[in-house]
Amino acid sequence: MKLLSNGSIENLAKKFRSDNGLSLTEPINLKSLLRKLNILTIFKPLSDTFYGMSLKANDSKSFILINSKNAKGRQHFSIGHELFHLFYDEEPVPHVCDEHAGVKSNSEKNANKFASSLLMPQEGLMAMLSQEELKTKRITISRILHIGQCFSVSHQALLYRLKSLSLISTYCFDELFSINIQEAAIQHGYDTSLYNSGNDGLILGDFGTKARALFEMEKISEGHYLELLNKIRPNE
Ligand SMILES: [Zn+2]
Repeated sequence: MKLLSNGSIENLAKKFRSDNGLSLTEPINLKSLLRKLNILTIFKPLSDTFYGMSLKANDSKSFILINSKNAKGRQHFSIGHELFHLFYDEEPVPHVCDEHAGVKSNSEKNANKFASSLLMPQEGLMAMLSQEELKTKRITISRILHIGQCFSVSHQALLYRLKSLSLISTYCFDELFSINIQEAAIQHGYDTSLYNSGNDGLILGDFGTKARALFEMEKISEGHYLELLNKIRPNE
């Protein structure tokens, strides 16, 4: 697919929000959204460079696989990335989205931009910055922590998004980029789970519930249950 302009990506992210009853400023609760969309989402520990993958089955059921070894903020970005593939990728090809995804193909670049735009809407970010910050493009670490926690995104993803929207000066970007965000979060009294791995073994969606219910009723064996789940696993 062709490389979409920033404006087109912003419009797609806005459309996705309005299609799903979300305002243009609010943070997205991705787990609720995935449940609502009934996208079977599985979180598993996978190899270190693996971020996620998605595929659409013939019956239009959608699946997402996310690496639970990644920090939660990173996982959220990967979900946004996979949502692009499921909803807007014109030629979806099953593929692994990894740390080199951004330099691979247009579809990967579009998916990364979409994730950034969807999770951190311009209006939402601007509403959280002070007049002074909007004017000087100098943002304090306490504000950055607050915004990152509200939108549940990684420190890096937030800084890149602010930079791409020209809401932060290059000097301030460089200064904040070098900060150890976990230490800063602790000093400011925040929970650090966003910066750590998690969700290991979590399954969202109908398929998992059904398979699990059958398993619990002993209608199917553990091997059969794992086989059902393995059907949607990529070749690791
Ligand atoms: Zn991808």
